[in-house]
Amino acid sequence: MSIERREIAVVGGGLAGTATALGFAAKGFDTVLIAPETAADARSSALLGRSVAFLSEFGIMEALAGKAAPLSVMRLVDDTGGLLRAPTVEFHASEIGLSAFGYNVLNRDLGDALQERMASETNLERCNAKAVGFEPGEANAIVTLDDGSRYAVDLVVAADGRRSPIREAAGISVRQWHYPQTAIVFNFEHAVDHRSVSTEFHTRSGPVTQVPLPGRRSSLVWVEDPKLAELYADLRLEKLSETVADKLHWILGRVTVEEPIQRFPLGGAVVDRLTGDRLALVGEAGHAFPPIGAQGLNLGLRDGEAIVRFALESRDDPGRRVTLLRYEAARKADIRSRTLGVDLLNRSLLAGMLPMQLARSAGLAAMSRVPFLRQFAMREGLSPGAGLMGVPRSVRKWIGGDHA
Ligand SMILES: Cc1cc2nc3c(=O)[nH]c(=O)nc-3n(C[C@H](O)[C@H](O)[C@H](O)COP(=O)(O)OP(=O)(O)OC[C@H]3O[C@@H](n4cnc5c(N)ncnc54)[C@H](O)[C@@H]3O)c2cc1C
Repeated sequence: MSIERREIAVVGGGLAGTATALGFAAKGFDTVLIAPETAADARSSALLGRSVAFLSEFGIMEALAGKAAPLSVMRLVDDTGGLLRAPTVEFHASEIGLSAFGYNVLNRDLGDALQERMASETNLERCNAKAVGFEPGEANAIVTLDDGSRYAVDLVVAADGRRSPIREAAGISVRQWHYPQTAIVFNFEHAVDHRSVSTEFHTRSGPVTQVPLPGRRSSLVWVEDPKLAELYADLRLEKLSETVADKLHWILGRVTVEEPIQRFPLGGAVVDRLTGDRLALVGEAGHAFPPIGAQGLNLGLRDGEAIVRFALESRDDPGRRVTLLRYEAARKADIRSRTLGVDLLNRSLLAGMLPMQLARSAGLAAMSRVPFLRQFAMREGLSPGAGLMGVPRSVRKWIGGDHA
């Protein structure tokens, strides 16, 4: 079979891969998205900061009007019941001059908006097939699909998820670990208006996070012991609804849980390199951690935005080694800090970690009292390095955070 020529191949049609492929095509790169059909997903994603800007570049946020709920307040409640209970902390977007931190949207709606946009993108072809081979070479890389077709491209972007077959073919090693936790995930209606507030209850088995959806509806990510998660997920819907209302301390009144009830075992992963010859990893192919603080997809979208930006600066050969090294250098700190931050917060909740519980309580207590710390955390949560923008330039220079 003959080999087709393209500039970019994105492997993996999850949210990170599809958005990245659209990002390349919108900037004029001749792109192929290698993406077998994906299963329906009832989860939602809170899109924050630069992710919103990236998706807006090709019209996705506009397409989601009416389907995305603004997040104006994020509230952390210590529900561990321990002696070292931290005070409740509220982060208001208005405190850093924003009307909202971002927007929560069903993954299905985001996926549909991306698909619709793809249909009108002339620089983008979608192949409904799996990549089964990756051979990097001096001048290009060859990707082979399970239908026998082959593509010669300048750059392969692997957005093929946690198990990333392309990462494996490139010989990039990964360290993976598991937490003794499962996330139970579903959407629900509630009697009381959420007023654009997301509340995260920190419990001894992990965070339980309610995130607003349009109307009197929210999504819930409930991190639990795996055995209990199995029991809760099997409850009759009425019983589960009562349990959820209780778990949320009735802040939203009566709730009605909707099917499906999904479960995700929690784990993390770090890779030893984010790039290889003519290869860049994007999304969960390059990093994974538990769904805490709405960071996973946002990190993946920031990867996508960055690889498109660097490729554009190297327009004649976007797969050049130096371009990939610049991408890797630019993404390292963001990925490391999010992976470590989420891991520490999660572990600090688990029983038997007294020093970490103490540190978490002290950190939250400080944030509840000191506006500067709160504002730093809010800016940093939205965009890496942005927290430092509230700090005087001389101090930024001193701590090495001023790259202007
Ligand atoms: C319960 C839960 C809630 C979450 N909430 C949030 C949130 O609010 N905000 C946030 O930012 N993040 C959130 N996340 C994280 C976020 O969902 C993930 O980071 C994101 O979906 C990962 O997207 P991805 O495209 O990198 O990977 P995936 O979605 O795993 O996509 C990988 C794709 O690659 C395809 N693939 C695999 N092998 C091949 C191959 N050989 N050839 C071609 N294709 C292949 C797969 O079919 C799949 O479609 C949450 C995660 C969980 C578990």
